[in-house]
Amino acid sequence: MKKCLLYIQCSVIVLMSCTQSRSIVDSGSIETTPHSTQPKNVILIIGDGMGLTQMTAGIYSNGNQSQYERCQYIGIHKPYSSDHLITDSAAGATAFACGQKTYNGAIAVDSDSLPLPTLLEEAEDRGLATGLIATSSIVHATPASFIAHNRHRKNYEEIAEDFLKTEIDFFVGGGKKYFDGRDKDERNLIEELRSRGYRISTYFDEELEEITLDPSERFGYLTSNKEPLPHSQGRDYLPMAVQMGLSHLSAHDGDGFFLMIEGSQIDWGGHANNASYVIDEWKELNEVVGQVLDWAEKDGETLVVITADHETGGLAIQYESKMDSIVAAFTSDYHTGAMIPVYSHGPRAEIFSGIYENTAIYDKIRKAYGWSEPSPRDTRLRQKK
Ligand code: MG
Ligand code: MG
Ligand code: ZN
Repeated sequence: MKKCLLYIQCSVIVLMSCTQSRSIVDSGSIETTPHSTQPKNVILIIGDGMGLTQMTAGIYSNGNQSQYERCQYIGIHKPYSSDHLITDSAAGATAFACGQKTYNGAIAVDSDSLPLPTLLEEAEDRGLATGLIATSSIVHATPASFIAHNRHRKNYEEIAEDFLKTEIDFFVGGGKKYFDGRDKDERNLIEELRSRGYRISTYFDEELEEITLDPSERFGYLTSNKEPLPHSQGRDYLPMAVQMGLSHLSAHDGDGFFLMIEGSQIDWGGHANNASYVIDEWKELNEVVGQVLDWAEKDGETLVVITADHETGGLAIQYESKMDSIVAAFTSDYHTGAMIPVYSHGPRAEIFSGIYENTAIYDKIRKAYGWSEPSPRDTRLRQKK
């Protein structure tokens, strides 16, 4: 067993909002009746590689507090894929997006590489606004599995082309070069999106916070040329992107929205066996979870579901650990097979309690929205092949 010990010093930070939400719980005034109405909006937050020990290390390193503790219901999913007990992020995200177990590397296609309709496409077909936000490139496996169909996750330039086959309303992530600096052809997908009415901007042109959006325009922002830097080294764009995404998608005069937000790099910290990288990325996502829950509570018609695709690194918290100084050991530099917690909040949150397959996340989100018919896109996608 490969064992890599890392000693992490963490200062105790007490967040004001946590203290407030805790006092509500303590006073017993938190609502106990499940929402009976169905949500208008669903926000799915994926912490890539965020297993229960990543969560534990994050919470203890954060003064024993987290925004996740505001969630009313907790479930557990089984993350294995169709061809391996240990899933990769492509098969993991495809299970959430399409409700089918598939092979590792598959982007919203089944075991025969045939395209499967995604939650984002179904939402769009039903008149909802849609969005994707990631701290990886926007064509990386997790966000890609909601918008593209490809036999292999590494076909980034082909995945970028699939952004032109949807009407996605808002996206933020890295990967500019897959749109306008392509190896396989001379296409400039940024210009092609603009000619279809999109406002597309990049880190090269302006900062995200300088942008004021017109609610009627569809928007994309590329935060880097390839993969964005870690939170500790790069610009902290995730909270800003989420704030913009929430106000933009909720201003859309459709029937609600579907938004997927990914904290992509908790996984990369795990692959690097770097516990401080994991904890730093966890803290960034924790802040965003708080921001989203604040917004959703005010809105009252938004279901928030937070989970991970798999655990990364086989992280274990060692005997020498203290609350504010976690000593972490890793057993792997890849993903592990541990089951994964699901945290839910808002209308229909109760249907996410229990133990189930990762594919049930898709079924439960459709059920929460009240979608009973199969996606009309299913046949259309299959005919295209
Ligand atoms: Mg992953
Ligand atoms: Mg990912
Ligand atoms: Zn990974």
